[in-house]
Amino acid sequence: MSYFDINLDLSWEEKEIKSTAHRFAKEVLRPVSIKLDKMSAEDAIAQDSPLWGALQQCYAMGYHKALLPESVGGGGFSPLQAHLLLEEMLWGSMGISTTLFLSTWVFNTLLAMGDDRLIQEFVVPFCECEDASIRGCWGIIEPDHGSDMLLTDEEYFSKPGVRGQVRAYLDGDEWVLNGQKAAWVSASPIATHCKLNLQIDDSLGLSGGGVCIVPLDLPGVSKGKPLEKLGQRDLSNGEIFFEDVRIPKHYMFVEPDQYAQSIKTNLGFGNSFMSVMALGIARACFDESFEYAQQRIQGGKALAEHSSMKIRLHKMFSQVEAIRAFSRAVWNLNSSIYPPLSEYAYAAKTYCTEATVDIAYEAVQIHGANGITKEYPIEKFYRDARLLTIEDGENTTLNRAGGTILNNTYPRTEVQKII
Ligand SMILES: Cc1cc2nc3c(=O)[nH]c(=O)nc-3n(C[C@H](O)[C@H](O)[C@H](O)COP(=O)(O)OP(=O)(O)OC[C@H]3O[C@@H](n4cnc5c(N)ncnc54)[C@H](O)[C@@H]3O)c2cc1C
Repeated sequence: MSYFDINLDLSWEEKEIKSTAHRFAKEVLRPVSIKLDKMSAEDAIAQDSPLWGALQQCYAMGYHKALLPESVGGGGFSPLQAHLLLEEMLWGSMGISTTLFLSTWVFNTLLAMGDDRLIQEFVVPFCECEDASIRGCWGIIEPDHGSDMLLTDEEYFSKPGVRGQVRAYLDGDEWVLNGQKAAWVSASPIATHCKLNLQIDDSLGLSGGGVCIVPLDLPGVSKGKPLEKLGQRDLSNGEIFFEDVRIPKHYMFVEPDQYAQSIKTNLGFGNSFMSVMALGIARACFDESFEYAQQRIQGGKALAEHSSMKIRLHKMFSQVEAIRAFSRAVWNLNSSIYPPLSEYAYAAKTYCTEATVDIAYEAVQIHGANGITKEYPIEKFYRDARLLTIEDGENTTLNRAGGTILNNTYPRTEVQKII
C-alpha cells in the first residue's frame, strides 16, 4: 500500500521516482527480504542466495549510484528525490537497501575527499558497475571499542593510552594495517571494499586515528563468519581481520588532524539515513496493520470499524507522518550543507527510531497472536525495528553527544546552504 504524500509540490519526476521505487520494493525487495530472514546467516550470502539477484536488479536500475552526482556517472538525485527513493526501498527491505546505500555512502565519501586518483580508481568504476560486483562497508566499531569510537567530544577520546585495535604505520610509500573490527560491520561478509577507521598516533589516544579505503581482496585480509542476529537478517554483519595488509599512501584520506571531525561528519550523514530507515519500517508496520484491521473480523465487524481500533490506527498514522516530516527535513538539511549538523541528525535518529519501536510494538498488538507467527511479516518488522536504537550509535550515546554539541553551540546562528 502506498499513501498520499503530504508534500503537494512533488514534481511529475519525483512522483515517478516514488512509484517506480515502491513497485520495485514490493515486487523484488520485500519477497527476497522475507526469504533471507528465514535463512541462516551463512546461507543468506551463499552463492545461490536470492540476495544476489535482488542486488543485481538494484544495480541494473541504477539505484546504487542514484545519490551520486552526474559528474562521476551518478544519478544526480536531489535531496528530496533521494529521500523519496530511500523511504520506498527501506519499506521493502531494510537489509538489502542498507547494503546498497552503504555502498553509495562509502564511495560518496571518497568523492567528497576530492582526490582525483581515488575518484578514478574507486568512484567511477562503482558508478559504472551494473552487476553488483563492487560493494562497500564501513568498519569503525571494534570488539573492545563501541560507543568509545563515536564520542569524540569526551575527554577520554584524546587520552593517551586508550587506543584502537586496528592500527596502521607508514612504511615508505605504503601503510601497513593490523588488527580486527567487530562482528557488527554491516555488509562486510559480502563487501569488496571497506572504509576503515583505524589508529595511527597513540600519543593522541583514540583521536589519533585515520580513515582509509581498503580493497578486501588484498593479501592479509580475512573475514569471520556472518553473525546470527535478532533482526535485519537481510543485512549481513561480520568481523574483518587485517594482518600486515599493505595499501598505497594515498588510500589514507583522513589523518589525525581531521579525524574527530570526520567521525562527526560520518555520524551526521549516517544518522540522517538512520531516520529514513526508521521511516521505512514504521510505514511498513502501519500498512500491514491497517490492511489486517480491514480483514480481521471480531464482534461481527472488521477490527478497523471498532472505535478503539480507529483511534489506535490513527495514532500510528500520525506517528508515521511525524517521522516522515522530521526525517525528510533533517535529510534535506544535512544533504544541503557541509559539514552536516550532527545535533539534528541525532535528534532525528533517536526520535524516529524510538517512535518506530513503539509503532512496531503496537503493530504486533493489533495483529493479536497472528503478530507473533511467521505467517505474517509483522514479527519480522518488529525484530528489524528493535535494532535501530543501537545501530550507528546507541541512542543514549547519541543524545549525550548531541547534548554536548548543544552546550557548545546553542543558539546556533544560520548555516550556509552549499548544495
Ligand atoms: C544492526 C547494526 C548494524 C551495525 N552496523 C555497523 C557498521 O556498519 N559498522 C560498524 O563499525 N559498526 C556497526 N554497528 C555497531 C554499532 O555502531 C554499535 O553497536 C553501537 O555504536 C554501540 O556500541 P556497542 O554495541 O559496543 O555498545 P557499548 O558501547 O558497549 O554500549 C553498551 C551500553 O553502554 C552504554 N555506554 C557506553 N559507553 C558509555 C559511557 N562512557 N558512559 C555511560 N554509558 C555508556 C551505551 O549507551 C549502551 O547502552 C552496527 C550495530 C548494529 C546493531
